Amino acid sequence: MNWQWTTASTALLFTGTLAAFTAVSLFRRRAIPGASALGAAALAGAWWSFAAALEATAVPLAAKILFSKLEYVGSGSSVVFFLLFVFRYTGKTSWMTQPRVAALWALPAIAVSLAATNELHHRVWIGFSPGPAGSNSMLYHHGPAFFAILAGIYAYILVAASLLAVAALRASFVQRRQSVTVLIAAAFPVVGSILYSLGITPAPGLNLSPISFVLTGVVLAIGIVPLRLFELVPVAREALVERMSDGILVVDAAHRIVDFNPAAVELLGLRPGGVGIAAPHSLAIWPKIAPRIRPDCESHFELTVSQDPLVHLDLRVSPLRRRTGEAAGFLIVARNISARHRAERLLQSANDRLQDHVRKIEHLQQELRERAIRDALTGLLSRRYLDEELPRILEQSALDNAPVSVIMFDIDRFKQANDAHGHRAGDALLVTLSRLLTRHSRPGDIVCRFGGDEFVLVLPRTLVAVAVERAEEIRRAFRESAIPDLGPTAQPTLSAGVALFPVHGRTRDELLHAADEALYQAKEAGRDYIRTANPRTG
Ligand code: GH3
Ligand code: MG
Repeated sequence: MNWQWTTASTALLFTGTLAAFTAVSLFRRRAIPGASALGAAALAGAWWSFAAALEATAVPLAAKILFSKLEYVGSGSSVVFFLLFVFRYTGKTSWMTQPRVAALWALPAIAVSLAATNELHHRVWIGFSPGPAGSNSMLYHHGPAFFAILAGIYAYILVAASLLAVAALRASFVQRRQSVTVLIAAAFPVVGSILYSLGITPAPGLNLSPISFVLTGVVLAIGIVPLRLFELVPVAREALVERMSDGILVVDAAHRIVDFNPAAVELLGLRPGGVGIAAPHSLAIWPKIAPRIRPDCESHFELTVSQDPLVHLDLRVSPLRRRTGEAAGFLIVARNISARHRAERLLQSANDRLQDHVRKIEHLQQELRERAIRDALTGLLSRRYLDEELPRILEQSALDNAPVSVIMFDIDRFKQANDAHGHRAGDALLVTLSRLLTRHSRPGDIVCRFGGDEFVLVLPRTLVAVAVERAEEIRRAFRESAIPDLGPTAQPTLSAGVALFPVHGRTRDELLHAADEALYQAKEAGRDYIRTANPRTG
């Protein structure tokens, strides 16, 4: 066959090779979403370029036509693959249903079939004529099928470029470099197609379409490695925002709704109507949010949106600023913390109940302690208390080198009063004496019912003479007291024994024993007496 190498051959061979390398590098990174679709597009672009290179190099008309037909395989499939890549890249994977993908392939399939069978209908090319002399180029005179196919391909490219442009413009500042890359990539096929349609070409026979298309692939592929384009895809971010469980709502400075995600609709109860509506009109809870918004710093608060079912939100409202520093609006992030809030409430009420129980138990314990140390009839401290407390008092008095007096009282012939007037009258007598003892005691003294009709008075820091004097006062007062139920004739009396720490005893038992002995002597002396213990011997 006859071949003639031209500038177009070089350029197309170069772009073909570039596309092939790009395809290989993309397939090696096929784990990145969209990389294999873009790789397939690059491979088809390589095919397209090589076929175009062969077309530009071959001399015979029949060969040129054959290679042109082969170009259709590359151009048609590269555009479909590119569109599939864009769908994936911009997060529109839900659009890629099987019937739709099949429908997308219909265009290249029809284009290839029509080109292949052009001799039968002459609808793609109606004729051919030689290009400028010596250029080894051929002019194709296009028929209606060509323009129909071209329109279809334009439609594909337009959809792809628009999706990329929208994604790029929506990208946040972190993805600005990626966005610019994507925009440049998206511009190539558009510019290339326009130039081709206008018949503008830098060299005779040089078809700019495969070149511009390959450049798109190369620019995007370059974005993969240094700019990590596919790892920080703006749309992945968009999908993230769409799917996240936190509600996100953006309002502008005039409180008009600018953007929101589906979770915001559910959590904040956004009324349908959407973007552009003033927040107070489409957001029922706006009156609750508005007073908490601060123009200069983030505000963070919780809000109960409804009680039944309980919807409790954690809200963060952050002011947004333009790069110029001008206030742009607010970002509201709402998190549903109803479950946590409910659990906290339950915990709180369980805690309250528990505290209530603890208080009751403490109260009961206190009561029990009181009961244990109190005598039920007289309300005086019990012997048990005295047994525990007296050693402590003596210990402290020993350290302070202070005296302690102990007086042991016993009602005279109490049994007789009990027998003569009844147990009740006996009880009244015990209560009368206990009141008397209390009345004659001072702060720091211990007044105790020791048992039966025996009472003990402990007087810290009191010498025996003072204690005897006190015992005398009580003895006299008891004689003079009127006892209900006892009748006027029966006048009760009592006897007492006084002992002094440390003279008559150093321990509790020694001291009580000394007081008891003195009491016994008082009884022996005929009752109604006060006696002091004998100094210890030995
Ligand atoms: P003495 O002069 O020797 O002390 O003679 P007494 O009759 O008082 O003898 P004693 O002190 O031994 O008697 C104690 C009596 O106190 C025996 C018991 O029946 C009575 N008694 C003990 N506890 C109570 C009580 O709570 N109420 C009444 N009513 N009597 C009690
Ligand atoms: Mg007695």
